Amino acid sequence: MKRVFNLTQGELPRRWYNVLADFDNPLPPPLDPRTKEPLDPDALKALFAEECVAQEVSTDRFIDIPEEVLEVYRLWRPTPLFRAVNLERALETPARIYYKYEGTSPTGSHKPNTAVAQAYYHRVEGTRCLTTETGAGQWGSALSFACHVFGLNCTVYMVRVSYEQKPYRRVMMQIYGAEVIPSPSERTEAGRTILVADPDSTGSLGIAISEAIETALREPATKYSLGSVLNHVLLHQTVVGEEALLQLDMAGDYPDVVVGCVGGGSNFAGLMLPFLRDSRARGRAVEFVAVEPVACPTITRGEVRYDYGDTAEMTPLLKMHTLGHGFVPPPIHAGGLRYHGVAPIVTRLVEEGVVKAVSLDQVNVFEGAVLFAQAEGIVPAPESAHAVRTAIDIARECRETGQEKVILIGLSGHGHFDMSAYADYLAGKLVSISST
Ligand SMILES: *Cc1c(COP(=O)(O)O)cnc(C)c1O
Repeated sequence: MKRVFNLTQGELPRRWYNVLADFDNPLPPPLDPRTKEPLDPDALKALFAEECVAQEVSTDRFIDIPEEVLEVYRLWRPTPLFRAVNLERALETPARIYYKYEGTSPTGSHKPNTAVAQAYYHRVEGTRCLTTETGAGQWGSALSFACHVFGLNCTVYMVRVSYEQKPYRRVMMQIYGAEVIPSPSERTEAGRTILVADPDSTGSLGIAISEAIETALREPATKYSLGSVLNHVLLHQTVVGEEALLQLDMAGDYPDVVVGCVGGGSNFAGLMLPFLRDSRARGRAVEFVAVEPVACPTITRGEVRYDYGDTAEMTPLLKMHTLGHGFVPPPIHAGGLRYHGVAPIVTRLVEEGVVKAVSLDQVNVFEGAVLFAQAEGIVPAPESAHAVRTAIDIARECRETGQEKVILIGLSGHGHFDMSAYADYLAGKLVSISST
């Protein structure tokens, strides 16, 4: 049985898909953090690349991927689509399970798809340095890599507790030449204020965002970069779904269900949006399932309203599902899914009933991840394992009902830097986070 569906480099999609072209009503505009009035998109240019700001509000259905970006994508793209034959056998399910694997990228996740595009546009526009924040380090390593490729400097504010306890991603960023600063730091007003109040602060993503933004606004030719949530980030990730469409066609199948994990929503949207366009054109029904941790149940338990992207209230407000910008999730191992908000595009699709959201406890997630690793050989990132576990549950239902569903999993990354999380799971030390 054929298990891998590879595209040639010549078949790499040359356009990203922009779902904004297909919304009946435009998304609510971002609001200025001070005045709470709709923000002039030009104001975003103080932080982001002009081309990315244009993409943020564009209604062109397709946007060409620049040749220079395609050239870098070819280091690892197209990524493989696998049929999970061994997993199907282990589950004794009549379902056919596929997974689109982004763990073959240089830094092991989908994140370089947007990091490379953003760094390219900045290079063209004369930016010399990009700043960002990182928690566990997935986004920081992707941006560090992309900056190095295009000759930009990169400054990453890394939450201090991760900087000290998870050194390997930090080292990876340093290999790519980035400057990695434990946050809170003495470099910024925001960091100094925190340190005066609490010299031993272990930091938070919110503080790190404030430090990165402050630095970008203060230093010349320095801009800020975000790895999820915004429309242009989701746009760049659609290369994943465009490839998967072609690959499932090679396999002679079409998905009944597309499952992805959701932190800010970029890998999930990147995979499902091209299938949304295509299934509508063909008049086919596809279920789109977004999976989040029970410990950070943004879509399943949050409310839809305008909220800040960060704790310090420096970012524009976006209308999205949110748990409140002061929400501090418990320290679960899927670090990339610990965000209080979600992409406004995903919120819109949930409101339209196109996307359904479910939440999972981390103990169940790791149980699914180990089953998957034993069957398919790949150790999933704890984030991706949320999608894996949900697919397993659906496939088990198919065993009961006899339905031959075709399930497509977004496997957003590998878990090679997450062995301490797996060690805790294997030792029975992972704590279950109840949903109440
Ligand atoms: C960052 C990350 C996520 C979550 O981010 P999204 O924007 O929701 O995709 C998921 N999986 C992996 C492997 C990540 O690194």
